[in-house]
Amino acid sequence: MITSRLAPTPSGQLHLGNALAFGAAWLSARNVGGRVLLRIEDLDRGRARHEIAQRQREELQWLGLDWDAETPAQSTRQYSTEGVPTYRCTCNRKTRLAGACACRDAGLTAGAVRFRCPPGEVCFGDRARGPQVLAPGDDPVLVSADGDPAYPLAVVLDDARDGVTEVVRGADLLDATPAQIRLHEALSLPVPTYLHVPLLLGPDGRKLSKSHGSTELGALRAAGWSPDDVWTTLLPLLGLPAGGLRDARLEPSRVPCGPFVIDANAVVQP
Ligand code: GLU
Repeated sequence: MITSRLAPTPSGQLHLGNALAFGAAWLSARNVGGRVLLRIEDLDRGRARHEIAQRQREELQWLGLDWDAETPAQSTRQYSTEGVPTYRCTCNRKTRLAGACACRDAGLTAGAVRFRCPPGEVCFGDRARGPQVLAPGDDPVLVSADGDPAYPLAVVLDDARDGVTEVVRGADLLDATPAQIRLHEALSLPVPTYLHVPLLLGPDGRKLSKSHGSTELGALRAAGWSPDDVWTTLLPLLGLPAGGLRDARLEPSRVPCGPFVIDANAVVQP
């Protein structure tokens, strides 16, 4: 059974970039009679809010996206690194990103738990972008020094236990995919297929976020947009004719790489 998932992070309002990824995820399953799951990714206890998650559910429904089941929210689940080759690391993010961390071979017994990712490039097929040969980059942190599980661990364990076969998400996560694949392999878990949809950028060239408030679904609704207005704007960015979601047939190989610049001022007029 093809199973896809909508995986919002409830720390900010959904914007057009989220809608693009969720629309593609929904179509990739529904077009072939597959299942769609909703998974609230609320691991960031400091920023995640129940009210935002509830609003995101409502906005997804408003967009016409439905799901067969909601998985337990990540904040309620257990995550173990058992079976994963790991090491402890006491470096802060800045040191890690500068490549100045020497913890991999230091034999530390405290600190964040990082994945000892096997060296070498990872070859995989992205259903939109074709064959990819990418280095995994820095060893991801799986558990913070405080003991909190981190996204790279949670996404792999959850996709496996939720039976997700298709990961469809924004291209900002393309670079994280090689290490995620290696983690699936380290745990002998099935590796899902991947489809990364184009990133939407603001006119400042940055990924859509809170600072581009008028591309938020709430702002568009308040400005009189209907769900069809959203899909008429977004479906061409997936290589599909403008129109409603129900009639759309996703063709992964036609999804462009992007990115696309979205002018917040221009989009508020449906
Ligand atoms: N929760 C992530 C987000 O909102 C998505 C993670 C994923 O699709 O793997 O960007």
